[in-house]
Amino acid sequence: MFKYGLEFRRKALKLYVQGNSAVSIGRLMGCAHNTILKWAKEKDICRTFKEAAEIRKPVYDSNFRKMAIERYASGLSSTNVAKELGCSNRTVLDWATEAGIKRSISEALKVAGIIPPSQKGVKRSMETRLKLSGDKNHFWRGGVAPLQKRIRMSLRYRDWRTEVFERDDYICQKCGEFSVAGARLRLNAHHRTPFIELLTKFELDTFEKAMACEELWNVENGVTLCVGCH
Ligand SMILES: [Zn+2]
Repeated sequence: MFKYGLEFRRKALKLYVQGNSAVSIGRLMGCAHNTILKWAKEKDICRTFKEAAEIRKPVYDSNFRKMAIERYASGLSSTNVAKELGCSNRTVLDWATEAGIKRSISEALKVAGIIPPSQKGVKRSMETRLKLSGDKNHFWRGGVAPLQKRIRMSLRYRDWRTEVFERDDYICQKCGEFSVAGARLRLNAHHRTPFIELLTKFELDTFEKAMACEELWNVENGVTLCVGCH
C-alpha cells in the first residue's frame, strides 16, 4: 500500500537525521522532498535549517583541538591554523577563546614577530612623515586607496561589521528599518569617525599597522545604517 518500502523510508529518514536536507535526499533517492518532510513530521523529527547546519558540523577529537590551540598559542593566525589543519577559522577562534587564550591582533602580530620590537612604540610626527614622502614612504607612494581596499576586504573588517550589525540587531539606527523574512534589506556598517581620518590620525600606513590598531576596530565607532540612510 506504500509507494515506497519501509527500507527506503528508513534510509531517507536516517539521512535526514544526519543533517541532510530533504531536497538533497529527494534528489539522491529519487523521491519528492515533500514526501520526506511528511515522514519526518510523522516521526516528529522536523528541524530548522539552523539545527540541520549544527548537526552537519564536523566533530573534532580532543587531540585535533589541542593541536589547533597550540598552534594558535604559538602565534599563528587562526586563518593559518585553519588552513594548515583543514578546519574553519571560526572553529579555531572558538577553541582558543574557550581555552582562555583569545588575544588581540596586535598581540598576535607581536607574538608572530611581525611587529619587530625595535619599531614598537616608535612614532613619527606627521611632519617627519611628510618629509619622508616620496619613494621612502609607502604611505604616499602606494596611495591610501589600495590600503583602504585591502583593509575592507580583510576578515577583521568583516568581523567588525558583523559585530556592529549584531549589536544593533540588524536594524538601521536612523530610520529603524530592518529586514523581514523573505525581504532583502541592505545594511552598511557606517564609521562615525571616517575611516580615512582614523588611518591618518593613527598614522596607519601599512596593512599590518592597520590590523594592529585597536582604535580602528572599536565597535563603538560603527553604526548600522540602511542603504537609504547611509
Ligand atoms: Zn535607514
